[in-house]
Amino acid sequence: MQNSSLISQRAKALKPSLTLEISAKAKALIQEGKDICSLSAGEPDFNTPGFIIDASIKALKDGITRYGPAAGDPELREAIALKQTQINQVPTNIDNVLVTNGGKQAIFNLFQVILNPGDEVLLPSPYWLSYPEIVYLAGANPIIIKGNPENGFKLDMKKLETSVTQKTRLLILNSPNNPTGIVMSLKELQDIADFLRRHPKILIMSDEIYELLIAEGQTHYSFGAIAPDLIDRVFTVNGFAKGWAMTGWRVGYLIGQTDVIKKAIALQSQSTSNVCSFAQRGALAALQGSKDCVKKMVKSYNFRRDLITKGLIEMEGVSITKPQGAFYAFPKIEKGNTTSVDFCKLALDKVGLAMVPGIAFGEDNCVRVSCSVSENTIIDGLQRLKKLISIVN
Ligand code: PLP
Repeated sequence: MQNSSLISQRAKALKPSLTLEISAKAKALIQEGKDICSLSAGEPDFNTPGFIIDASIKALKDGITRYGPAAGDPELREAIALKQTQINQVPTNIDNVLVTNGGKQAIFNLFQVILNPGDEVLLPSPYWLSYPEIVYLAGANPIIIKGNPENGFKLDMKKLETSVTQKTRLLILNSPNNPTGIVMSLKELQDIADFLRRHPKILIMSDEIYELLIAEGQTHYSFGAIAPDLIDRVFTVNGFAKGWAMTGWRVGYLIGQTDVIKKAIALQSQSTSNVCSFAQRGALAALQGSKDCVKKMVKSYNFRRDLITKGLIEMEGVSITKPQGAFYAFPKIEKGNTTSVDFCKLALDKVGLAMVPGIAFGEDNCVRVSCSVSENTIIDGLQRLKKLISIVN
């Protein structure tokens, strides 16, 4: 039974996820026994490192199974503050840290606390697909700063400047980027800091969830470290999902100015309460333990990212800005007048290849492919894509 009068205006405005539509179709085809190659993964293909799992099992056995502080396990908050201070070079203490149910809840809580209805949020494209929806849920409006695949999706500072209005409240930054894998340079970040200095009412959210997954020779700069004078306006989102292969654990965090963090804690205490107590002990072990497991995963992503990029560069009808981080590539495809959604549907129907349509990230000329799959799957996927392009053109 369908009855739209049951649904609030807010929920009516929510868009269903395009990625889910494609992956549901891919799953249905696999169940029918079809030969499907999926490059649509949005998560690590590694298992969570054993010592992290052991720490959580120990926590369960030790009785860490009850409600905890809404703001997070104090030891974990302390460890996050220490990491942010020592490794990211941003002086941080426990009052600046909120442990959240994944990076996603950090973003949701932040937007609920700092955005008013009608506020405008500057969002460079391509962007992670949940940002616009979480902005809308706070009653605000995303203002897309359209990126251009021809110039490597460099943020156009002039466009950014001319998009500012009296209503502008926040700028969203995501480096390393999902879906492009682009890592912003120090100079680009410094230019953004100068932009913020010219606009004292604008806050910034820096989503650094892929910080550990970068190519050799790349450096990740935490935005707070390059602009210490702006620290009260910088909100950092991070988490354990990507770097530590802990997507299902749901542990992330928000770092920022204490009044905002206090309100975000209040919001969390009245909605979800604390993040799963024993999962937080696993996250604590991740921060305190050896980083060798992360290095191993990074090495493997780097190899596979290079493999997929090389294959795409050599393919006719494809151009690409070389990804330097995360585990995605975002090639531009010559596909005539076909939309990226139709192209991805065709890919499934004609060559059994699952990819994510670029329009989900605000760029219809591209598709997102993942290198968080085996080497053989990458090689197979590239062959299928080549065949599809020859069919379309
Ligand atoms: N930010 C970006 C750019 C992401 O790609 C994701 C997940 O795909 C998240 C945040 C949310 O991560 P989490 O699983 O910790 O909620």
